Amino acid sequence: MTDLTSLTLTEARKGLVDKTFTSVDLTKAHLAAMEAARPLNAYVLETPEKALAMAAASDARRTKGEAGRLEGIPLGIKDLFATEGTRTTASSNILGNFIPKYESTVTSQLWRDGAVMLGKLNNDEFAMGSSNETSAFGPVVNPHLPANWDEGKARAALGGDKKGLLVPGGSSGGSSAAVAANLCLGATATDTGGSIRQPAAFTGTVGIKPTYGRCSRWGIVAFASSLDQAGPIAKTVRDCAALMTSMAGHDAKDSTSVDIAVPDFEAAVGKSVAGKTIGIPREYRVEGMPAEIEALWKKGAEMLRAAGAKVVDISLPHTKYALPAYYIVAPAEASSNLARYDGVRYGVRVPGKDIADLYEKTRAAGFGREVKRRIMIGTYVLSAGYYDAYYLRAQKIRTLIKRDFELAYAAGVDAILTPATPSAAFGIAEMADADPVQMYLNDVFTVTVNMAGLPGLALPGGTDERGLPLGLQLIGRPFDEETLFSLGSVIEDQVGRITAKRWW
Ligand code: GLN
Repeated sequence: MTDLTSLTLTEARKGLVDKTFTSVDLTKAHLAAMEAARPLNAYVLETPEKALAMAAASDARRTKGEAGRLEGIPLGIKDLFATEGTRTTASSNILGNFIPKYESTVTSQLWRDGAVMLGKLNNDEFAMGSSNETSAFGPVVNPHLPANWDEGKARAALGGDKKGLLVPGGSSGGSSAAVAANLCLGATATDTGGSIRQPAAFTGTVGIKPTYGRCSRWGIVAFASSLDQAGPIAKTVRDCAALMTSMAGHDAKDSTSVDIAVPDFEAAVGKSVAGKTIGIPREYRVEGMPAEIEALWKKGAEMLRAAGAKVVDISLPHTKYALPAYYIVAPAEASSNLARYDGVRYGVRVPGKDIADLYEKTRAAGFGREVKRRIMIGTYVLSAGYYDAYYLRAQKIRTLIKRDFELAYAAGVDAILTPATPSAAFGIAEMADADPVQMYLNDVFTVTVNMAGLPGLALPGGTDERGLPLGLQLIGRPFDEETLFSLGSVIEDQVGRITAKRWW
């Protein structure tokens, strides 16, 4: 029998339907793979007992003919999603041993449809980062190695300081690494400025940030509420579409969730894209862009053209302001959202001589460096005297960025093609201690999409000269994720999957 963990979600679903194997078989195979891959640090909590119980219950439902659309499929859950009775930390010390009494809407919909939880996945602390190195649980290792790398040397580094190995992207680095290393058939993730798409690009996986309001944010640890969206990371476009169909939907508990019908996103996979108009925004040709990224982008446009799409040059003139504006809006919202971690309500508490002292000591001990930096920036830009100069101005820029997209779509563009990231995965510790702005530049192609609330799909477009995955991004009209899945499957059919060889 083939290794069950190397199947795609779609293939595994068929094997379950055909009774080639059971959910318990599938789940056991993944639990064994997780154990063998512990040094990659993708999971911060494995839940084998829960997984096997859910799998057995799933097999029983199937026998009774009650199978849901994700029946028996083992998934990894980013540790930003509250899971009832299972520790949820956002990879922060301040949440310590927080065990929610409730389940996030998105995960509850996955369980409703029969999926099985394998465990909780590592991420940047409170989803702030682009490399998974801000996690209180330490960095996650990208399962991709440069082609000329010695596997023995890599294994030695894995057991040591991990230097020289690659980051899986962030903040959903556990999700992207777990999918790429076959440690789950798909994973939940969240994206505030690129945290689904950049990790997908770095690991050769497929990730979609849905339109703002498509998935409920209820029960997801908040970073920047007007930008945060949940979405899947998976092995293929079809797998991603299958997960999205379960994750999406209106929820009365999230006032920003939109009450529109959820299509069967899988139906869009493989659909003709003839006659679609694809915009190539000239402002994304940033200074110093590596030639291989430029070439990847051209190749992507060629593939869509060959499939009958019309490719046109467009302008999104406010693009260059997106990153600076994002790094005002996101920290501002974060500073407000994170005010709740005061040592009284959740997790860690460091006693103090009075209540203010308790707050200060708890927050000083509980938050990591990057989170503290964001809180300081956020409170600064919201403070009297600076609010108009920074926060209000950033909000105005946000409106202009959104308008750029609206004008492009009004002129007949159906979707926009860009690179997903300005480079392939970089090394662990290579950027973490440098100027934080260098790290922030990773999001240059992705933050615009969050600022405008649009859907964005990232998928493999090719490899760099070292054989590392490079990602393309497709940006869609609001609530038109279907066109992205159709276009994505055209590219996927030509590029194929970029998988990691097992070396750990
Ligand atoms: N890398 C970006 C940041 O650090 C985006 C993170 C995210 O999308 N959650 O804010």
